[in-house]
Amino acid sequence: MLPGLIDCHTHPVFAKPRLIDFEKRIAGASYEEIAEAGGGIRSSQAGVREASRNMLADKVSFAFRAMLRHGTTTVEAKSGYGLSLEAEVKSLEAIREAAKYWPSTVKPTLLAAHVVPQEYKDRPDDYVRLICEEIIPLVAKRKLAEYVDVFCERGAFTVEQAERIFTAARQHGLDTRAHVCQFTPSRLSGLLAHQAASLDHMDCVADGDLRSLASSDTVAVLLPGANYFLGHKEFPDARRLIEAGIAVALATDYNPGTSPTVSMPIVISLACTHMNMTPAEAIAASTINAACALRVQTQKGSIEPGKDADLAVFDVADYREIAYWFAWNRCAEMVVGGELQGFSKD
Ligand SMILES: [Zn+2]
Repeated sequence: MLPGLIDCHTHPVFAKPRLIDFEKRIAGASYEEIAEAGGGIRSSQAGVREASRNMLADKVSFAFRAMLRHGTTTVEAKSGYGLSLEAEVKSLEAIREAAKYWPSTVKPTLLAAHVVPQEYKDRPDDYVRLICEEIIPLVAKRKLAEYVDVFCERGAFTVEQAERIFTAARQHGLDTRAHVCQFTPSRLSGLLAHQAASLDHMDCVADGDLRSLASSDTVAVLLPGANYFLGHKEFPDARRLIEAGIAVALATDYNPGTSPTVSMPIVISLACTHMNMTPAEAIAASTINAACALRVQTQKGSIEPGKDADLAVFDVADYREIAYWFAWNRCAEMVVGGELQGFSKD
C-alpha cells in the first residue's frame, strides 16, 4: 500500500489524439518542424475551440477515471489548448465539471501561455497583455484555477514574458509554475524570484542554477513520458539534480502531442530504467515530492495521522515490482478520502 500517487503535471483538455504528428515524427520530423507544418499545439487549438464544454468535460473525466485505476488520487490539470479568453475559460470549466464526478483531488492550472496563437503571431506581446490584463483577472475572480503556468521555450514564451505573467498571477492571488529547459536552456533566477511552486521538464538546466534551485522551495518536476514518446535518447538528468540537493518530482505530462499516458507506474518505471532513480526515489518523487510541487504536502503524499486517507494498493509482494512490471498495471484497489473505490469497466 502506498499513499495515492500524485500526478502533478497533466494537460487533459483536448478533443482528439494527434496521430498526424505521431506519424510525421516517426518519419523524422522535429517538434518545431511539426509545429511549422500546422501540427503541434496549434492543431489541438482548433479542436478545443470547436468543442462544447460538455464534450471536453467528458474527455477529461475519461482520463481522470483511467488515472485513478493506475493509482493516482491527486491530479494537476492544465488548460492550454484554447489560447483565447473564451476557450481557456471553457477548458477550465471542463476541468471543474469533470472534477465534480471524480472522487479525488484536482488542482486546476491556467496555461493560456502555452504557445502564441496564430492570430497574435506577429505581436506576441499583445497576447501576453491579454493574458495578464484579461484572462488572469477573470480566471482568478471565478476561482477557475489555482496556478498559472507558462511554456518558456524558443518558439513559445521568453523568460521575460513569463515573469510578466507571473507578476500578474501573483497580484491576483494565484501561484505559479513553468515549463522550462525542455529543449533549450533558460536561466532560472527570474522564475525562482517569483517563488514558482515547480519548474517542469528541466532536461537542460545550467550548472549555475543548481545551487539556487536547491535552496528554494521550488520542486523540479521531471517528465520522462515525453522523452520516451518523442523517441529521445536523452532523459532528464535526475541524478545530477538529486545530488545537488534539489527536490525532484515525477508526473505523466499527459497530453495529446508528446505524452499520451495516464500511468504514473510507467513513469516510475521510466525514471528507474532511463534516469537511474532507485524505485524508492521514484516512488517518493510520485508521492510526497509531488505533493510539495502542488503545495498539498500537509494533506497528501504520505500515510500519516491527520493526512487524507488517499491510498493505492498494488498487487505485488515488494514495492520495487511497481517499477519492474512496466506497462502492466498492478494497481488493485484505491481508497480516496477513506473510501474504497469500485473500478468500473470503462
Ligand atoms: Zn506539459
